[in-house]
Amino acid sequence: MKKTFSIAVFHGDGIGPEIMAPTLRILERIATASAAYELAFSHPPAGAAYYANTGESLPESSMQIARNSDAILLSAMGLPDVRYDDGTEISPQIDLRKALTLFAGVRPVTVKAGQKTPLDMPANREIDFVLIRESTEGLFHTQGRGEVTHNEARETLLVTRDISEKLFRFAFELAKTRKVSGRGPGRVTCVDKANVFRAFAFFREIFDAEARKHPDILADHAYVDATALWMIQKPWDFDVLVTENMFGDILSDLGAGLMGGLGLAPSADIGLEHAVFQPCHGSAPDIAGQGLANPFAMILSAAMMLEWLGIKHDNAVMQKDGHRLREAVEDVVSGGTTLTRDLGGMAGTETAANAVLDTLFVT
Ligand code: ATP
Repeated sequence: MKKTFSIAVFHGDGIGPEIMAPTLRILERIATASAAYELAFSHPPAGAAYYANTGESLPESSMQIARNSDAILLSAMGLPDVRYDDGTEISPQIDLRKALTLFAGVRPVTVKAGQKTPLDMPANREIDFVLIRESTEGLFHTQGRGEVTHNEARETLLVTRDISEKLFRFAFELAKTRKVSGRGPGRVTCVDKANVFRAFAFFREIFDAEARKHPDILADHAYVDATALWMIQKPWDFDVLVTENMFGDILSDLGAGLMGGLGLAPSADIGLEHAVFQPCHGSAPDIAGQGLANPFAMILSAAMMLEWLGIKHDNAVMQKDGHRLREAVEDVVSGGTTLTRDLGGMAGTETAANAVLDTLFVT
């Protein structure tokens, strides 16, 4: 009998609903074609527009639906003009991250042959690495609670043993999965600033302890400044990088830049039980409602969701469908004929998404 997986779908703001609609259509086609699983979507309300109407950005009932679902698929959220009373932007995705302890922010960076990149790539090279950003503590620990006086401002960086152990275990498991599927040599690099800060020496010590449990995986270290340099000079050398929250925040945008823009950058925020899959970009209100948004980052995030569910529930078909969906987007991007405007093409959202469907089911 087919197992049914419940997916909480948050349609988001701005271009959010425009890129979510074709993504759900693609997921439905894939699931319908599969004999191994079904997907049941629910549509709980949340977001900036919802907040403007109701005074709530993520109602408790929506949080409950998210908590009880097998996975959470979330589109771009937030609108520049809709803010909480303290002036910060509406961000239910951060509330979910905290409430569900989604400590591992997974940001894949891939550049396939034929894909545009600002780098001058040697012809025989492709980029395929994953940056894991710790997402619940680090320098974001005092987010919104920093102390500011006339003469001083302070934020506190927090690194806990508990979260670091979970984070590094996750990183080594991911390197193993990648190695088995032929996507990497099996290597995890701890990105820190252990030469300057005691907190990062602590972070590194916990990393080394976890590394000793995985003799089949290479483990090494890099300082964050050197990592930024190498991401430009030799990004094809990386496999899995794991780092603190703020370092990861900055490096993941650099990674998106390597891929040719935010429109191609997917992400997952993963904990022990739950996971949220969401494109890295914002709600792009400047192009909302025009059918111009690039749906690829959203579709790639959905592919990550299938892969994660497949691994978690030992469902090989689902895992494989995740790979196929990712590869279909990569083929469309490196094919170069059906690109959205942000990637230098002329295709609208629907045309770009249909090209992915055609690659999956026609060719
Ligand atoms: P946030 O702070 O919510 O992350 P942001 O201010 O960084 O948002 P985005 O909303 O991501 O910005 O948009 C930045 C620019 O990139 C805008 O010009 C937007 O139109 C463009 N952009 C972002 N996502 C896409 C997309 N999927 N397709 C096309 N253009 C996009």
